[in-house]
Amino acid sequence: MNKVTVKDIEVKGKRVLVRVDFNVPLDEKTGDIADDNRIRAALPTIKYLKDHGAKVILMSHLGRPKGKVVKNLRLNAIAERLSQVLRQPVAMAPDCVGAGVERMVAAMKAGDVLMLENLRFHKEEEAGDLPFAQALARLGEVFVNDAFGAAHRAHASVSVIAGFLPAAAGFLMEKEVANLGKIMENPVRPFAALLGGAKISDKVSMLENIMDKVDYVMVGGGMAATFLKAESYEVGQSLVETDMLDTASRLIELARKKKVNLMLPMDFVVADEVNSGARTENVPTAEIPGEKRIVDIGPQTIDAFSLELRKCKTIFWNGPMGIFEIPEFAGGTKELAKLLAGLEAMTVIGGGSTAEAVGEMGLADKMTFVSTGGGASLEFLSGDELPGVAALPDKE
Ligand code: ADP
Ligand code: MG
Repeated sequence: MNKVTVKDIEVKGKRVLVRVDFNVPLDEKTGDIADDNRIRAALPTIKYLKDHGAKVILMSHLGRPKGKVVKNLRLNAIAERLSQVLRQPVAMAPDCVGAGVERMVAAMKAGDVLMLENLRFHKEEEAGDLPFAQALARLGEVFVNDAFGAAHRAHASVSVIAGFLPAAAGFLMEKEVANLGKIMENPVRPFAALLGGAKISDKVSMLENIMDKVDYVMVGGGMAATFLKAESYEVGQSLVETDMLDTASRLIELARKKKVNLMLPMDFVVADEVNSGARTENVPTAEIPGEKRIVDIGPQTIDAFSLELRKCKTIFWNGPMGIFEIPEFAGGTKELAKLLAGLEAMTVIGGGSTAEAVGEMGLADKMTFVSTGGGASLEFLSGDELPGVAALPDKE
């Protein structure tokens, strides 16, 4: 990555304002932190800054409070969890801007860590408001962006603020851009994109862009139904994006033109309902019963994908192969996760659900890289420069 990083700048004794992505999943019932990976992923940057004598001021958003204070989206629990994993106190500010916060910052000593309150309690954050970015910038002397997961947003704390302070990328940002950049610029072939998840609509520009780079596109998940419908298959009660049928046909044509091997499932697990305990059966793609819906890829498809994936040197995986949240429908996702974990190839995982599936199976360490950015990784692979990355200065 050819951007200035924390290692290139002087931080000793300075107030360093760090944008992190602590937008962690919360348990629906208890509101507890369901998964603290995003907090842990920022530790290398936070520790480096602390160890080099910086005063570390962290800013993040959580959820979608839409410009208002939402009690359940306060960052206290996150500051507490960070304090546990960092093994030092983390002070919690009452807000992210203003005189009170400025006084707290002024009292900080080298090595101290302060967590600002949820940025999105102010509507100016998402609006990319200039005075708001300036008010944030007043808290620091240096800006470090380690929030890859938010880098596709031109928000005040992500890109606008970089106009007011010397700026640098944190280690997580650097790692994300390096790994995703490598598969886009310099993939060792054969290169396969294994794609699933619910919908095509989120992924069209990524699909278009990677057609120029990959040798295979393997499609599973709910989005397979839309591709098959576009090819005139009957898909029963499966989720079909009717407004994406033309797009699906166009993508199939594009793959043909670019000589990309686009593989659609030849069989599926179908069920009459989407819940645990539903009756399931395996059927060939041409024989999906009208009253059933696709919930997972079938065993022949797993074999066919596996056979080709074993030949690949680079694999990008985004989107689960089935409704993996329900154990009975998680077979395809699990089998392919296991396969990827055992390959020598460069394996890169993008997408929140996919990372969650791999994480739950304890296979994250067996992959070359698991991106912390859902939307950001897709946008990166669409070929667009992310606002949060673009705003950082290039290395001399
Ligand atoms: P990621 O977060 O990894 O990018 P997506 O957000 O695109 O993945 O999709 C994840 C969702 O797709 C999961 O909630 C999963 O249940 C759903 N999904 C996967 N296969 C199907 C299917 N056959 N029908 C409906 N939903 C599906
Ligand atoms: Mg998702």
